[in-house]
Amino acid sequence: MRELEEVLQDWEAVIGLEIHAELTTLNTKMFCSCPIEFGAEPNTHTCPVCLGLPGALPVPNKAAIESIVLAGLATNCDIEKRTMFYRKGYFYPDMAKNFQTTQGPKAFCMRGHLDLEVSGNAAKERVDVEKAEDGSYTARIGITRIHMEEDAGKMVHIGGAEGRIDGATNSLVDYNRAGTPLIELVTEPELRTPEEARLFMQKLRQIYLAIGISDCSMEEGSMRCDGNVSLRRRGSTEFGTKTELKNMNSFKNLHDGLAYEIRRQAEVLENGGTIRQETRHWEPGAKRTIVMRVKETADDYRMFPDPDLAPYDLSDEWIEGVRAKLPELPDAKRDRFMASWGLPKADAADIAGDVDFASFFEEAAQGLSEAQAKKAANLILNDVSAYLKENAVALGQTKAAPASIAALAKLLADDSISSKQGKEVLAAVLEEGADPDEYVASHNMKQVTDTAAIEAAMDELMAQNMDKVEAYRAGKKGLQGFFMGQMMKAAAGGNPKVISQIVTSKLEG
Ligand code: ADP
Ligand code: ZN
Ligand code: MG
Repeated sequence: MRELEEVLQDWEAVIGLEIHAELTTLNTKMFCSCPIEFGAEPNTHTCPVCLGLPGALPVPNKAAIESIVLAGLATNCDIEKRTMFYRKGYFYPDMAKNFQTTQGPKAFCMRGHLDLEVSGNAAKERVDVEKAEDGSYTARIGITRIHMEEDAGKMVHIGGAEGRIDGATNSLVDYNRAGTPLIELVTEPELRTPEEARLFMQKLRQIYLAIGISDCSMEEGSMRCDGNVSLRRRGSTEFGTKTELKNMNSFKNLHDGLAYEIRRQAEVLENGGTIRQETRHWEPGAKRTIVMRVKETADDYRMFPDPDLAPYDLSDEWIEGVRAKLPELPDAKRDRFMASWGLPKADAADIAGDVDFASFFEEAAQGLSEAQAKKAANLILNDVSAYLKENAVALGQTKAAPASIAALAKLLADDSISSKQGKEVLAAVLEEGADPDEYVASHNMKQVTDTAAIEAAMDELMAQNMDKVEAYRAGKKGLQGFFMGQMMKAAAGGNPKVISQIVTSKLEG
């Protein structure tokens, strides 16, 4: 197979995503009042409605509809004031009703978009757009719709390998999850590279977390993504046949699975073959996609309006009430951080995209100068973030307070301590809740920035080493290192930047 970059020179990739999110922050299911609780005893959160018993009548969960409308407003969708629920044929034991309640062509949220800022290495995959001087570009990706659905229950197979159905002797079913509200967002086929797909997913996740409708855990499956991809020759306007990739449960898998599939399809097409419309499974370990099922005819789900559920009407006032609940979204936050503290765009976006980081930074940065705030942002994005990853903890689980990060940022921005000392202070802040100023004082870290004292010490050192001073002035510039070393020893804990400046200017005479 040829490399992705090479393939994309000749072929244009067309990608559309279908992204499911469970509304995990709700208390009750979509059409009944059973509680939503992860990890409860099997079949303890069920009732006649979510078990599909005859005569049980569903009632839509207004809070769930508020969540999907929030999602739509946050992704620039039009909100449909009158929509319907449909029944979609579904025959598998994990859904006792034998149908899934979903929405038809008109969903609560229609015709939205997200703007992607693609920069750095991520921008390299795209070859057909005009890019800014720094190689970045912006792409607007259309959202076809966001519709409401319900989740199925969970099957547990016993006796087979790894809980799989093959070879199992018993199959158990737990209906606790059946009827949990899900929203599915479908994009237009407007993504063009695996990086764009990854960024779209990442941005959507940041938005959902900001509006608080889901915990968006890709590992636990509360946010999952299917990737549809096809190729067409550069210059062609017709779509090729697509394949659909399942099991994209991490940003990396989404990127790598699509990249592999693009390379695979190119090879098939270049060898004169044709792409079958099929569902494929990405195997991250083996780094390949394998066929799950081939789609030979259009699926017949026998969708029809649910006779138990009347068309659902939303009033303008209600929609505006939901709009008023929208918090500041990541893009707006990014722009504000750039305007208030002069953060570089990428840093501002990274901080604004993380709910914890954003509120922490904002509190820390109150009263800081631009230079100090930039230090605080760097501390959070680099050192703190690395610490969190390494220890698998959240920011709130450390002992760090925004005020401590602010104090440390000040010490660093003012060159009162070195960056190496800064790391030691940060560790104490994170692990012991240390106060940076106190820590620096009690550990004698404060760098000597008393320039008069440093200058006097340098004069003395030069008087003792006139031969070296003359050699330096005659061209042996490497001797700067000798003086620097002596001065660092003399002014233990002194600010290296300041000392170096004085050493050089004195030597130059
Ligand atoms: P299906 O009927 O197979 O479910 P849809 O038309 O519902 O297909 O589209 C599902 C997803 O696939 C959408 O995100 C859409 O943008 C994307 N898609 C549709 N056609 C193509 C194509 N030719 N290549 C890549 N993606 C596509
Ligand atoms: Zn129920
Ligand atoms: Mg479809």
